[in-house]
Amino acid sequence: MSRTLRVRQSQTVVPFGVGAVFDIQGESFVATGIGDWPTRGRQKVDSPRLASRLGVTGFYAAPATANDRFDTPDAPGAPYIRFPSWLFCGACRRMKRWRIADEKHGQAPRCPSCSPARTLAPMRFVQICAAGHLSDIDWWFWAHSRREAAERRQCAERDRLRFLVSERASGLEALSVACAAKGCGAARDLLDILGTHGMRCSGRNPWQRASEAAECVKPVQIVQRTAGNLYYPLVHSALDIPETDVPAHTDDALAARVREHDLWVSLCRMAGTPRAEALRMMIQEDTGAGDDLLDALVAEETGGVSGAAPASSDGPARPDLSREEWAAFTAPAPPATRDFALRETTLGLAGESAEPWSGLRQRFGRIVLADRLREVRALSGFTRVSPDASVVPADSARRLKWLPAVEVFGEGVFLTLDRGELASWEVDTRVRRQVAGMQADLDRSFQKDRLEAVTGPDLSPRFVLLHTLAHLLIRQLSFESGYTTASLRERIYARPEQDQYGILVYTAAGDAEGTLGGLVRQGEPPRLVETLLRMTEAAAWCSADPLCAEHTGQGFGNLNRAACHACALLPETSCETGNTLLDRALVVGGEHVPGYLESIVAAARSAAADALEKT
Ligand SMILES: [Zn+2]
Ligand SMILES: [Zn+2]
Ligand SMILES: [Zn+2]
Ligand SMILES: [Zn+2]
Ligand SMILES: [Zn+2]
Repeated sequence: MSRTLRVRQSQTVVPFGVGAVFDIQGESFVATGIGDWPTRGRQKVDSPRLASRLGVTGFYAAPATANDRFDTPDAPGAPYIRFPSWLFCGACRRMKRWRIADEKHGQAPRCPSCSPARTLAPMRFVQICAAGHLSDIDWWFWAHSRREAAERRQCAERDRLRFLVSERASGLEALSVACAAKGCGAARDLLDILGTHGMRCSGRNPWQRASEAAECVKPVQIVQRTAGNLYYPLVHSALDIPETDVPAHTDDALAARVREHDLWVSLCRMAGTPRAEALRMMIQEDTGAGDDLLDALVAEETGGVSGAAPASSDGPARPDLSREEWAAFTAPAPPATRDFALRETTLGLAGESAEPWSGLRQRFGRIVLADRLREVRALSGFTRVSPDASVVPADSARRLKWLPAVEVFGEGVFLTLDRGELASWEVDTRVRRQVAGMQADLDRSFQKDRLEAVTGPDLSPRFVLLHTLAHLLIRQLSFESGYTTASLRERIYARPEQDQYGILVYTAAGDAEGTLGGLVRQGEPPRLVETLLRMTEAAAWCSADPLCAEHTGQGFGNLNRAACHACALLPETSCETGNTLLDRALVVGGEHVPGYLESIVAAARSAAADALEKT
């Protein structure tokens, strides 16, 4: 029976983007660099703003196809190759290094020794380094690593390895790799396998040829292939906001004919060499494309004939895209295009003088509903070992000037705080002191660079406040509207130096049809007020209190204060900062710090109780 493996197009940036290792139906694969992507069938994704910020010429989405390139090198889909290539048989324990020539279309690897043939399973451990390299472990060396070098040389058989399980031990100690070569008998268990062992780095990723390997002296770490530090994607996201359109090629149909020409890939590979000239003439003859168009297309594909520069060399690694989005959301008459449709609304509290409603009216500013949003998410590269390690570009050969991306459509609710109220809360010394403590932890964090790309150069009280509000609001919305928290996302606009003070909560998972309007309905009066009140009331208490409320540093890198899984955290995909820089105390108040919404907590509680009585 032939098996079908498939990755959805929307997953080709995250979570299965270039460099990611993932399991699918018991087999393990790595997504290869975009240099291996087919040019045929890939789809152009427009986002001129993101492209110019990242210093690339544009974006392509992987071809949407049911036929990904798991085991057929010529299939039209996004390319994946088997990794790790070391597999083992659960029945006879034979280990086998599976090569591309061993792949059989539509079939998982089978044990060559067993009958009936058993499916081989991937080895659980692989090796990585901080330069972003990834490779198989040299299992032969591991099995013989307890032997002296001279003794090791006695064994010449490289493919007689067995992956054994002992019943006399447990955990990693029970596992060992043994050499079954005649007269050898070398073996070593996996008890201390995790960590560094002085092994040499291969200097490349599994899809790169040996000739592409770099001389790498970084220490190699052995990790589980599912370990969190194996892969940190560098993803950039931009909303489509109205702007003057950058003109595309005057003749898109002609450009498409050139790109689909059989010799196009060869031309790009050989650009700048004498042979390229002949290819070029043939393509011109067949398509009728002029010199200018062909020059432009080759430059777009290769970054110029000479271009050996990395795609990211022109732009900052993590550019700030918030400025224009904030401007678009706060414009007096929000501009509208097909993919950015806004309408302003209110909390519906005009004239309210009783608490908690008047307090809410005072503290919130603008409410803008986005009936339609388009988001482009692009992958510029990834790191391994840690998020601030050196970046491997999506095109590991550093020749291409485009990046892989996907577009998603959705809807959102944008809200701002009251500028004056925020300013007077923010100058309070107790507020400043609370956030200064978080800044100190941030300064010590290896995630500093990545997080500063979101917070701005200094961590401000408004960032932590707005960020925590976004989390609380997403949790409350999911509680009330049936959206899962994982389907909602945040964007924090909180850079004081750019006079920002708002958040966007949105959902963007849909295709061109968009989503169903459910989230926007939650933003209309009087629903949003009710949600905000219940959110405020809920935020004042966590089931882990008093521990959570009094925490002086919890979560990753101690970067959270009063915020834990029970009260404030979100699924990782929803959060811009990996669930860090959160503190409920800045919202509802704490022992040492006044909360922005503190004065309405008590009134919100009794209002909620009243509402409950009425029902
Ligand atoms: Zn077997
Ligand atoms: Zn041996
Ligand atoms: Zn390396
Ligand atoms: Zn908590
Ligand atoms: Zn977040």
